[in-house]
Amino acid sequence: MTRIDDLPVRDELRGKSPYGAPQLDVPVRLNTNENPYPLPEPLVERIAERVREAARTLNRYPDRDAVELRTKLAEYLTRTSGHGVGLANVWAANGSNEVIQQLLQTFGGPGRTAIGFEPSYSMHALIARGTGTGWISGPRNDDFTIDLPAAEKTIAENRPDVVFITTPNNPTGNAVPRETVLALYEAAQAAKPSMVVVDEAYVEFSHGDSLLALLDGRPNLVISRTMSKAFGAAGLRLGYLAAHPAVVDAVQLVRLPYHLSAVTQATALAALEHTGTLLGYVEQLKAERDRLVRELRAAGYDVTESDANFVQFGRFPGVNGAHEAWQQILDRGVLVRDNGVPGWLRVTAGTPAENDAFLDAVRELKKEQS
Ligand code: PMP
Repeated sequence: MTRIDDLPVRDELRGKSPYGAPQLDVPVRLNTNENPYPLPEPLVERIAERVREAARTLNRYPDRDAVELRTKLAEYLTRTSGHGVGLANVWAANGSNEVIQQLLQTFGGPGRTAIGFEPSYSMHALIARGTGTGWISGPRNDDFTIDLPAAEKTIAENRPDVVFITTPNNPTGNAVPRETVLALYEAAQAAKPSMVVVDEAYVEFSHGDSLLALLDGRPNLVISRTMSKAFGAAGLRLGYLAAHPAVVDAVQLVRLPYHLSAVTQATALAALEHTGTLLGYVEQLKAERDRLVRELRAAGYDVTESDANFVQFGRFPGVNGAHEAWQQILDRGVLVRDNGVPGWLRVTAGTPAENDAFLDAVRELKKEQS
């Protein structure tokens, strides 16, 4: 039988595995940081209407520049951050994964490097590999904050072309202080200069503000966002970025023509008409996130401070401790995530009933272990 490695695949892909959060059919799925609430019925109706309209012209290619959608995204960012951004500052793609891929195709690539501070979102490194960009794993402290002096030193020594800062960070949940982002931006400019990509996929759940205001006077800064989390539209596949207009012009050098289908644009536009209802769940999810933190601590677990819609908890001693605990929680019908961070697991804030099921499972586990 022919396997991947029997094919003439690129050397850097040999023996590697694809991104793969298990998609298991269990009663309570709290493993991929999705929003647990389905879209409200009036929005479902509006999507159907908009898509029906789009269907009438599907014989034509869609708006290649997604002008209406980018305008509405810019309005959303301006309204929620108080920082004015316009069409020329915003770019959209199929999920923020594609935004990141386009950024690495533009600013990374063969002979260039990108750095991220790990543990962090694993796709940054995987997309680097897929685009032929060298990857540098930057340091964190034991409490998962970024070790700033060590990070500045690594940037100065390695002079990366792209610096990723994920805030709030996935899978640890903690936000990166604004001063740290500014210091890393300065370090990156002094070393190269290089692009700094702030991945704000979870920012709507944060106690603090978006870093959009930092874009003024910083043309090498990019803020990446998504409709997959707070908007509850992971199935839509819509990510976007805000940056200096020159960055938006630059990514168009690598984007595939008509990359955002007319159906995607119509659906996202309908969702943006309902931001009020969609984001209504954010406050509820933040309250549930805080409850998970409190109850996990009360049950005797260590918890990393969270600004996201998920919580990192532990510690599970032993080489396989976290994975064994993951399996024992799964045996109780609850799927959480083992991100490979030794000693720690991650749970997404679900509905109150789902979180109760999770808390019952981990309390039982604690009793068995003690
Ligand atoms: N960035 C971070 C930090 C994430 O956790 C995720 C999703 N897990 C993404 C980006 C990608 O999201 P999407 O492609 O759905 O926009």
